[in-house]
Amino acid sequence: NAMFKVGFLSDVYQEKPLSETVPKIRTRFPPEPNGFLHIGHSKAIAINFGFAKHHGGECILRFDDTNPEGEEERFYNAIREIVTWLGFTPVRETCASDNFERLYELAEDLIQRDGAYICHCTKAEIKAQRGEMEGGQRGGERFACSHRTRPIEESLAEFRAMRDGKYKAGEAALRMKQDITDPNPQMWDLFAWRIMDSEDKQHHRTGGKWKIYPTYDFAHCLCDSIEEISHSLCTTEFELSRVSYDWLCDKLEVYRPNQREYGRLNITGTVLSKRKIIQLVKEGHVRDWDDPRLYTLIALRRRGVPPGAILAFVNDLGVTKNVTNVQVTKFESIVRQYLETTVPRLMVVLEPLKVIIDDLPDDHLELLDCPFSKDPAFGTHNIPFTKTVYIERSDFRAVDSPDYFRLAPGKTVGLLKAPYPITATSFETDASGEVTCVHAKYEKPVEGEAVKKPKSFIHWVGESAEHKSPVRAEIRAFNSLFKSEDPSAHPAGFLADINPDSEEIYKDAMVETGFRDISASAPWPKEEGAVEEGGKEANKHSIRFQGMRVAYFAVDRESTDEKLVLNRIVTLKEEKGK
Ligand code: ATP
Ligand code: MG
Ligand code: MG
Repeated sequence: NAMFKVGFLSDVYQEKPLSETVPKIRTRFPPEPNGFLHIGHSKAIAINFGFAKHHGGECILRFDDTNPEGEEERFYNAIREIVTWLGFTPVRETCASDNFERLYELAEDLIQRDGAYICHCTKAEIKAQRGEMEGGQRGGERFACSHRTRPIEESLAEFRAMRDGKYKAGEAALRMKQDITDPNPQMWDLFAWRIMDSEDKQHHRTGGKWKIYPTYDFAHCLCDSIEEISHSLCTTEFELSRVSYDWLCDKLEVYRPNQREYGRLNITGTVLSKRKIIQLVKEGHVRDWDDPRLYTLIALRRRGVPPGAILAFVNDLGVTKNVTNVQVTKFESIVRQYLETTVPRLMVVLEPLKVIIDDLPDDHLELLDCPFSKDPAFGTHNIPFTKTVYIERSDFRAVDSPDYFRLAPGKTVGLLKAPYPITATSFETDASGEVTCVHAKYEKPVEGEAVKKPKSFIHWVGESAEHKSPVRAEIRAFNSLFKSEDPSAHPAGFLADINPDSEEIYKDAMVETGFRDISASAPWPKEEGAVEEGGKEANKHSIRFQGMRVAYFAVDRESTDEKLVLNRIVTLKEEKGK
């Protein structure tokens, strides 16, 4: 992707040790297929794919499917799709579950090397061994598990029995024989394999074949090793795990990749946790996992955020070991900057108010040739200028004041792109007193007279049946879903922090006909990330534009040929308050 500077990686990631067994830089992005990816994952994706690309290497998409609970086929698909949408192409796709057989062999090998044993202790007993005292306090004296010294042959037999279903979950587990005197808790005889024999939840890919599953600590480093990953890039919570990672590879005398860590990316003012999003969806606070107010990647895509803007955001943060807490306003400002130069401009009226320019003939029709952008490469389109136009209700005031510069009785205002300004002469109201129509005079100068210079220009949409103008739309404007920066800190729970005004709907919005030109040639603009989306459905996400003086918009996936639904991607300027 052209917008993505691969040179963004900090010095830590510039190192390039090449071993003989691994002649090439190879990374992997290892999501667990148990949910939709969120904005934090885009950093992991950008780092893994970006680092490999920078060094002329390759990146694997690996599904880390070692825990059948919660893993589902739709998540494999959604993850694959969103990685592609972000503009990355994995060299291949793998699954940790492809390696179960090999991982099992390695476990037997580890037992034979006196590097693991079968343990039958309870959770409480293991906590005690690790120096955890009653009440959960840590730092007590650590001691070895009584099963640690059992004969290798016995552990091997018991491991096979475990595999063959002799035990129920919790009755036996394979533990690594590490070093409990080491101050690093990742060396305190970690679990390697455990029993997961739930009848109702079979593994999506291996079905009921396995009753035992490897842990992250066992599987991750060995999958990296099997796939000959050169750099295993992960978040800093795994810094202590580097020791067990290296320990296991070395104990088995298999190829050892280099684990390196980077800081997590957190967004404030929202929630990213699966459990919390499930609650929001279930209780109807949001439409679904892709509700544009969420920060899952499918939500950002639905809202209309271009993939390049997400990468620009990650790029802007840079790669450090620090955990980055970023406000949503920072994200939005980058999206705004990105859209400013990459999308066409149109006129959109959220709340239309009819204006009749009385002194124009009834059939007045001028086709104004307007550029789509300041950038001539975007081309031009025609806007019908007619006797009846629609302006924004908020651009008219029945009672004028000297500090008001838009339309009011007696006041002159420019219509963007139109040849001459208009002056309001009178207005009509309905029974409730609401203004229903404004009458105006066209300020076309008679010969020899100067053109009136308006103090300001407003946007508008003309009315022409011949040109199918205006295009009608429902517009959804999103505000923050939560009131505070840290919804989870709310004493009554994060749901109590929900902003009741997180969505404003404009049911009768109008868009100028230039919209038809841009949707006919969508995705617009052609951008690398969007090219691979394919299909009409996906292309809807790529129809984006600036509504002049209003905001940036994108076509929502709920749009049909009969009904256009637009999402507000971001406002034109940062708005104070919510
Ligand atoms: P975790 O690894 O903490 O369980 P997760 O369950 O949300 O994260 P995974 O599917 O395990 O998601 O994540 C896939 C990859 O993305 C992992 O390498 C993980 O470390 C990384 N990742 C997850 N969340 C973030 C984040 N907020 N910032 C950066 N990287 C992240
Ligand atoms: Mg997880
Ligand atoms: Mg994980």
